[in-house]
Amino acid sequence: MRLHDDTIALVRERARILDQFGDGQLKRTGREFLARCPWHDDHRPSLTVSPRTNRVFCFVCARGADSIGWLQDTQGLSFTDAILQLADRYNVEVKAADEADAERLRAESAERVRLFETRAQQLERFSSDLLFSPGLEYLQGRGLTMETIEQWQLGWNGRRVMFPLWDAQGRCIAFTGRVLDDSKPKYKNSPNDLLYQKAEQVYGLHFARDEIVRTGHVVVVEGQFDVIRCWQEGLRNLVAVSGSSLTSAMVEKIVRTTRAKKVTLCFDGDTGGLKAADRALRELQQLVLQGELELQVLSLPAGQDPADLAPDMAHLLESAPHWVKWWLEREVGQVDLTDPQQIARAESGFRRILQVLPDGALREYVRRECKARLNSMPLIPAALVRTTRQLDACLWAERRALRLYLLDEGSRPALQDVSYTDPVNQYGRDLVLAIEGMAPNQPEQLRPLFSKLLCRAPGDVRDKLMPLAWPIPEVTRVITDNPVGELEAALTVLASEACQV
Ligand SMILES: [Zn+2]
Repeated sequence: MRLHDDTIALVRERARILDQFGDGQLKRTGREFLARCPWHDDHRPSLTVSPRTNRVFCFVCARGADSIGWLQDTQGLSFTDAILQLADRYNVEVKAADEADAERLRAESAERVRLFETRAQQLERFSSDLLFSPGLEYLQGRGLTMETIEQWQLGWNGRRVMFPLWDAQGRCIAFTGRVLDDSKPKYKNSPNDLLYQKAEQVYGLHFARDEIVRTGHVVVVEGQFDVIRCWQEGLRNLVAVSGSSLTSAMVEKIVRTTRAKKVTLCFDGDTGGLKAADRALRELQQLVLQGELELQVLSLPAGQDPADLAPDMAHLLESAPHWVKWWLEREVGQVDLTDPQQIARAESGFRRILQVLPDGALREYVRRECKARLNSMPLIPAALVRTTRQLDACLWAERRALRLYLLDEGSRPALQDVSYTDPVNQYGRDLVLAIEGMAPNQPEQLRPLFSKLLCRAPGDVRDKLMPLAWPIPEVTRVITDNPVGELEAALTVLASEACQV
């Protein structure tokens, strides 16, 4: 859906840049504020946060953003999602760009209201039905107090205990029902609809958010009951995947909304739990290796889940091993070194681990373990992993080069050979080449023609490239004052090892 210009303009006007920072992130200097720049390795705060221009700007990176761009960058949102999030926060009416979209938007919003009302009524009915049902006895038998049952608004519907599922604002969007006996299916979710998409749902995030934000640590368990039982025990940073596998999209959602830095996977020690942990590990590997997250994995004794172990969980979580250590034990922990077949299996286990690890301390640790246990060392080349910050630095250097190309004729010869890896930047480069082909002897026409033609590009491409042709005044000043410095800054990053693919 493309948003109406009025909506975008109103969000731009109302969203205040200062609101995008938490207490303690800002230092006042006169009428402006300083914060750490997230785009370079910033030791003394060099990001100016200006209420006057309603933007952030870093002179070191020659990079700035308004509230929308800031949300996009720091939370990994698309332009539209950033607008929608800010529109919600600043009470801006969301309008679609064309009539067909607008009609759909109205219909969807009416359907949402209806669904929320239905869920609220169900919530009330299920809660009151619980009081005279076998469900209450079951929940109390599993150690829940009345207070906890009420807090989590557990309910009863026919044969099932009902667990309400919540959205980020704490509204009930769906239910999971659990049977008390062994009949199948054991768990049943509401059907997917406008409010609820099973694959994206992380159970308990709404309750756990504050504690995750406070500690930077989120614990992921398998079942809803585990979350609630541990909550009662005072462990309040737990969420559950409840029946589906943990995907990197779920983790990104958690990390985006809580800034969590550390994830502990806590799965049952039976075969199903171990397989779930394997899958989750594969999903998260990239994020972890890019330096975005710390990861630990705790496998509980087979047959026991966090709910059974609730009083000891805090202690158990403290002892959770680093993911590489856990993986290593899983692959080679039980090896009988007198059995050649087992030794061969252990060696391929070590190979699998070494294949994904880039050069560094972790890889050295695994190599040492391999040497110690098998007295041999498989030859596996180190994986090449760029951290998110490196990826971003390369991408930004490309943008800086393209911007300089558009703005400074004198720098163009030096920038001819830059190779662009990002598709949007490639689009910009292709546009430049096309214009130069059309108007070969009019270098001063490049920038105006570029922005004219860009109007026909897809919305997100246009949003990303237009600021390169028409940057904010601070950036224009940096470039006119010192084009050679700007050229050097861009080329230095592009020539660095991290940007050589
Ligand atoms: Zn910076």
